[in-house]
Amino acid sequence: MSRRIAIVGAGMAGASLAALIAGQDAVVLLEAEAHPGFHATGRSAAFWSETYGGPGVQPLTSASGPFLKDPGPEFGNMSFLSKRGELMIAPATDATSLEAFAARFEGSGIAMRREDAALRVPGLKGAWQGLWMPSCADIDVARLHGAFLTRARRLGAVLRCDSALLKARRSGGAWQLRLADGETLTVDVLVNAAGAWADRVAQLAGAEPVGIQPYRRTMVQLRVDPPAPAGLPVVMDAAGGFYFKPEPGGRVWLTPHDETAVEAGDVAAEEIDVALAIDRMQRVVDWRVEAVERRWAGLRSFAPDRLPVYGWDPRIEGLFWCAGQGGFGIQTAPAGAALCAALLNRGQMPRGVDADLYRPGRF
Ligand SMILES: Cc1cc2nc3c(=O)[nH]c(=O)nc-3n(C[C@H](O)[C@H](O)[C@H](O)COP(=O)(O)OP(=O)(O)OC[C@H]3O[C@@H](n4cnc5c(N)ncnc54)[C@H](O)[C@@H]3O)c2cc1C
Repeated sequence: MSRRIAIVGAGMAGASLAALIAGQDAVVLLEAEAHPGFHATGRSAAFWSETYGGPGVQPLTSASGPFLKDPGPEFGNMSFLSKRGELMIAPATDATSLEAFAARFEGSGIAMRREDAALRVPGLKGAWQGLWMPSCADIDVARLHGAFLTRARRLGAVLRCDSALLKARRSGGAWQLRLADGETLTVDVLVNAAGAWADRVAQLAGAEPVGIQPYRRTMVQLRVDPPAPAGLPVVMDAAGGFYFKPEPGGRVWLTPHDETAVEAGDVAAEEIDVALAIDRMQRVVDWRVEAVERRWAGLRSFAPDRLPVYGWDPRIEGLFWCAGQGGFGIQTAPAGAALCAALLNRGQMPRGVDADLYRPGRF
């Protein structure tokens, strides 16, 4: 039986779920902004790393890989991934970090091997050891997000921008929604895919917040001399102080791996974080920074245990969570959406994924 479902938030989380359930349910995607993907989805570093986010996230990332590599005819048969590779580095004097990191993923089947970091990163200062993870790839985020929205709309979903949800009231087995565009809607199911605003949206619906906290993450695009080689991997600091990856034209995308707790809103890069990023990179490589070409920041929103929150609210009937994707909501989107669709009785649970880990009732 088809249900009326409103998904609040048309970022990667809401769009990917809408793409899977539209056609089976009557879906409306409500987006507060004029364009979907404004706060987190459109600001990502755009890579798929099976280890990023830790062992609790890895099954979702790995299960998303086959779709991202080979999405099939409905998504134009063109991979959303392109080969990159990831090198985690630690000073040669650090005896334990890389081994300890690798041990966390034992049994996962993810290929990784120890390498001299200098073989893949030119201009390293001092001696560094590396852990090479070849499966890491770049993701075409804009095309992926657009493809999910296109499929959802083709199957009948309606995207309403400038339509923030202001209030949700449950009566007679349905939700009455009041929207910022002045309209009201009646739906059977309310899906909370509101990113940094997930707790706020839950409260609008009378539910308890689960403690999803937005954190600011800064990115800078640098022109460096010598230009970064196109084949440079994502270079990840084992101590968590930075990562960088190449961009076309010898540029570099770099982050100081900052996590500053902030209120949900439109965040911008702070000067101090830009300076910190450059300082940390310059301690590692002898590249000269010629220009800071772009700087931006976005929101990564985490539940207290840093795992996503997927499933029915334990107390409020008809409220479903699809939130808390943190710093990995792009690379996990296909499996996260499939998991949510399965819990909504629309399709199969993705292989190797334990939905119980992500249940809203765990808090
Ligand atoms: C700098 C940076 C780098 C990142 N790098 C990566 C990476 O390399 N790989 C990766 O997988 N992930 C990465 N991420 C994380 C990824 O971007 C997020 O996990 C993902 O985009 C979250 O998607 P979302 O749909 O939950 O959030 P969003 O894209 O923020 O979408 C939520 C939407 O809900 C809307 N909304 C909120 N309240 C309401 C309301 N009341 N009514 C209607 N709409 C509402 C908002 O306007 C927003 O558009 C990165 C994030 C940042 C910031």
